[in-house]
Amino acid sequence: MANKNTSVLVIGAGLAGLAAGNHLIKGGIVRVTVLEADKRIGGRIHSKRFGDGVVELGATWIHGKGPVNDLAETLNLMENAVEDDEYNGSYIASNGKSCKNELVKRAIDEFRKIIKDIYKSSEIRESPYRTMQDYMRYYLEQILHSVPDEDRDEFRDIFRTLMKVEEENHGAGLDDISLQVVPDINIITPGKNNIFAGSYYALITGLAHTITDERIHLETEVVNIDYTDPLEVKVRCQTRNGMKIYTADSVIVTTSLGVLKQNHKILFNPGLPQEKVQSIEKLGYGVANKVILYYKTPFWNLGINMKLVWRDENVGSNNNLPDWTRCLYAFNSFVTNPNTLEVWLCGKAGKDIETTPDDVIARVLTAVLRQFLNDPTVSEPDSIYKTTWFSNRLFRGSYTYMRTGASTNCIHKLSSPLVDKNNKPVVLFAGEATDAVYMSMTHGSLNSGIREAERLLMIYK
Ligand SMILES: Cc1cc2nc3c(=O)[nH]c(=O)nc-3n(C[C@H](O)[C@H](O)[C@H](O)COP(=O)(O)OP(=O)(O)OC[C@H]3O[C@@H](n4cnc5c(N)ncnc54)[C@H](O)[C@@H]3O)c2cc1C
Repeated sequence: MANKNTSVLVIGAGLAGLAAGNHLIKGGIVRVTVLEADKRIGGRIHSKRFGDGVVELGATWIHGKGPVNDLAETLNLMENAVEDDEYNGSYIASNGKSCKNELVKRAIDEFRKIIKDIYKSSEIRESPYRTMQDYMRYYLEQILHSVPDEDRDEFRDIFRTLMKVEEENHGAGLDDISLQVVPDINIITPGKNNIFAGSYYALITGLAHTITDERIHLETEVVNIDYTDPLEVKVRCQTRNGMKIYTADSVIVTTSLGVLKQNHKILFNPGLPQEKVQSIEKLGYGVANKVILYYKTPFWNLGINMKLVWRDENVGSNNNLPDWTRCLYAFNSFVTNPNTLEVWLCGKAGKDIETTPDDVIARVLTAVLRQFLNDPTVSEPDSIYKTTWFSNRLFRGSYTYMRTGASTNCIHKLSSPLVDKNNKPVVLFAGEATDAVYMSMTHGSLNSGIREAERLLMIYK
């Protein structure tokens, strides 16, 4: 059991921060305070009531199998979880026609193979291709030789849609994603995910429960972490009642990579070591936003799971649609909230829609639906909700990706703690960006919080 007088501050009440707090308390460090700038806990896990049910503004899927599955099992959340394959759907072209089934099937099979190769094969990492896009284009050209002439264009366009689906996993264009991708494909099966029958937020309440409300200080925004004093770390916070200083033996920082990119110079005193700063700068931090459309009376009958296949021949007729529409790749309805449709926009398009008025988005999305469904009677939604992860100063984006020029070494450097002269960790780093196996995912956040709590428990036992 750890020393009862040891005090730890955890910055951020997202999954990583709550996992850290929970693990510390269970291990015997009871003087734990979680400082959260927002009015709510959960961070990038945010389940919100909208329309006739709940929508997930942040994390939606449990990717493959990992630590989140284990936690969810212990909280009895997996019972009615639904399997979801992100490549499934009706592939409809922008001329309103369904794509040929055999072409869709072949494109999906080939795409799964490529993803497996990219994540698993070390040979590919040694290949002359720098980015995922370069490699995929090369691979596509090889496959196209065996596709009949008359089907080639359609096959290529279906394949491009699948590339957009992959962009969603990074929040950035594939032309910026290194082939040195991280997650372990032994655990992640390309395309295969699970969705909670209830909400993702149940994970958060499950963890927060052991920490208790008194230890979680909301609307407490950390503005500076001063680790110059050998006896204690001082954390200056902006609260509803003005400035407040907290002190502790150690601090675990779980703010997103986006927040570190934006604020590390002012957040730490002294400034972070150069190699950590370089890692923060080299790793990519993507933007993925969702638009959720609510219809009192849906225009569909049995749900919609539609993949959009943009055909070059329709570009001319799309001149009146903004550029970001070409980045749209799917409209989905969910069984848990059947009167809503969801679309994702990533990278630059994801940023663009943050500044686009909701009524314009609703009008444009309706035009796209009308075009693909070849049905001018499709109604406009009754209401719309749009996420703004990039402009939110507490996140500055959605999740980390392996940008060209970065490597797993950056993650190791980012996750290493700042220690005092006795080698005691005083400032520690958790959060999805610091997990070399499950970077970007909730699995990574959970792992990282437990990892840093364990580091302290080893020191203070
Ligand atoms: C749109 C979207 C979709 C996603 N989909 C999936 C998915 O399907 N599956 C999946 O596995 N993952 C998904 N993710 C990623 C997943 O949500 C994150 O990896 C995970 O939730 C991050 O948790 P975290 O604790 O590391 O960070 P965060 O959740 O960002 O927690 C950090 C906390 O720090 C707080 N904070 C920031 N600055 C300060 C400050 N100065 N002082 C105090 N507090 C501060 C923030 O408010 C936040 O609560 C998605 C994310 C987004 C945005």
